[in-house]
Parts: sequence; structure tokens; C-alpha cells
Amino acid sequence: DKGLEKTKTTFFSKLTKAITGKSKVDDEVLDHLEEILVSSDVGVETTLKIIQRIEARVANDKYLGTDELNQILREEIAALLAETNSGNDSEFVVPANKKPYVIMVVGVNGVGKTTTIGKLAYQFKKAGLKVVLGASDTFRAAAIDQLQIWADRVQVPIVKQQMGSDPASVAFDTLQSAVAQNADVVIIDTAGRLHNKIGLMNELTKVKKVMQKVLSDAPHDVLLVLDGSTGQNAFEQAKQFTAATEVSCLAVTKLDGTAKGGVVIGISDQFQIPVKYIGVGEGIDDLQVFNKFEFVDSFFK
Ligand code: GDP
Repeated sequence: DKGLEKTKTTFFSKLTKAITGKSKVDDEVLDHLEEILVSSDVGVETTLKIIQRIEARVANDKYLGTDELNQILREEIAALLAETNSGNDSEFVVPANKKPYVIMVVGVNGVGKTTTIGKLAYQFKKAGLKVVLGASDTFRAAAIDQLQIWADRVQVPIVKQQMGSDPASVAFDTLQSAVAQNADVVIIDTAGRLHNKIGLMNELTKVKKVMQKVLSDAPHDVLLVLDGSTGQNAFEQAKQFTAATEVSCLAVTKLDGTAKGGVVIGISDQFQIPVKYIGVGEGIDDLQVFNKFEFVDSFFK
């Protein structure tokens, strides 16, 4: 699978090394496994959960072959991901009864928020949907410019105001414009500052409330973008944003640049939020709908 090469090779070779020549799953094997999961950024809590499940399964029969351990591990990770990731979509689709379907995108600067919005717009447009972007990250001029560049590239309309204007007002205008154009999808960028928790909460709440003046059930999704190569920082950001607003789904970016794709498993488990998209490169086409089976398979070849 494109993009997950590094994670796949590293994880699989470490795992193979840990269990080669072993005829049973003993404490040493489990210790190794724990190390591998933690070093793949699965996170301590989720790693312990996985280890406990494996222990429970080998308790009766410790004389398992390595193939069987592989299989059990694969099953347990898939089961864990299935707790929060119910869908098996591989296509970019929008809910049938939401028109326009409104996504509010949150995340700190540099994680790939703008790029993810651009890639998403591209996919939705490719699927025949009418997309409108809203530049509600009014704090930095560069953020507005970058979003404009993506809008030009994908050839979708963008609603923006000048730097420093009220983010909620931009969101309001965007929704009104989208409704007037009979658009299918609205993607709203928001400011990426991690100000204090109260500041972040107030700003996101205000943007939401103002959108609801146009569409009472908007936003339909709050998508948190996290950089998959930043390990503990990504966990920390997830903590802050979930405390500030109701995050409904995740996009984990830059998985092509890391050998630690386990962050996807850990964050999804720890925060009980589905991973909807993964970023696997800088190109317009390098966004995938997250599929738990493909993801687990890519870990084990
Ligand atoms: P923002 O500040 O969060 O809006 O971040 P940008 O969208 O500007 O992205 C920051 C940098 O990360 C840019 O150089 C992007 O090309 C890069 N980037 C974004 N997503 C990915 C990805 O999935 N893989 C790789 N390798 N780079 C990415």
C-alpha cells in the first residue's frame, strides 16, 4: 500500500525478529511485542490493552507458532480498530441526507490541514460533487493564500475575507453562498492556533453557532487533522481539541514519512474517534479513505 511502506517494513521486520526461533509465546516475546508497539507510536495505554488481549488468548495454549501469533495480533488490532471505525468505505462519499454536507476542519498549523482540505475538495469534485471552501482561518494571511491556491488548483469556489476578519462571519458567508449555489459539500478551514483551551473553545463554538443560523444541523462533521509523524504531540493535540469541541472524525497525515503508523491505532482507541482519512504524500491524489482492514493488512504485509 502506497505511503505506509515505512511503517510496514519496520513493524513487520521487528515483529519477525522478535518471534523468530521462538516456539511459544512467553513473557519475553510479549515484552518484545510491547516494545515494538510502543516504538510504533501505538501509545502505552493501547499497547497494554493489546498485550492483555493477546495474553488472554494464549493463556490456555502458550505453545503457539509464530504464524499464529501474527494472526492473533492482526485480529486483535483489527478488533480494536473496529470498535471506533465501523465503516469499510474506500470511496469519498457524503451522507445522502445532508445537502450541503458541512465539514469543519480543525488542527494546529503545519499538520497538513490546508493540504488535506485541498485533497478532499479534489476527491469530492472528482466524485461529481459541487464543493465550496470557506477560509475561516483569518488569523494568518498565509492560511488564506494557501487555501486560495488549493481552490485554484482544484477549481472550486472559495469564500474569504481579509486577514483579521471574524472567522464566524466567513463561515456564515460560506454557508449562505453554498446554499445559494446548491452546493453538495462545504469545507470550512479554522484557525490553527493552539491558544489556551478557553480561547479555542470559544472560537470554535462561535463558528459553529453562526453556521447553525444558516443550517441548523451544521457542521455535520468536525474533522481534526493530526500529523501522524509527530507521535506524542499528535496525542496531545487530540486531547486539547477534543476538550475544546466535539471532534467527530480524524485525518492522520504524513504517514508516508514515518515508520510509526501505529499512531492511528492508538489515537483512534484512546479517544474513541474514527479515523476517516489518511494522508500519504504531498500530491493532490495522496489522500485515502481510511480502511481498517487494508490498514491492518499493511502492517503485516
Ligand atoms: P497546515 O499549516 O496545517 O495547513 O499545513 P499544510 O497543509 O500547509 O502542510 C504543511 C506541509 O506538510 C506542506 O509542505 C505539505 O505539503 C505537507 N503535507 C501535508 N500532508 C502531507 C502528507 O500526507 N504527506 C507528506 N509527506 N506531506 C504532507
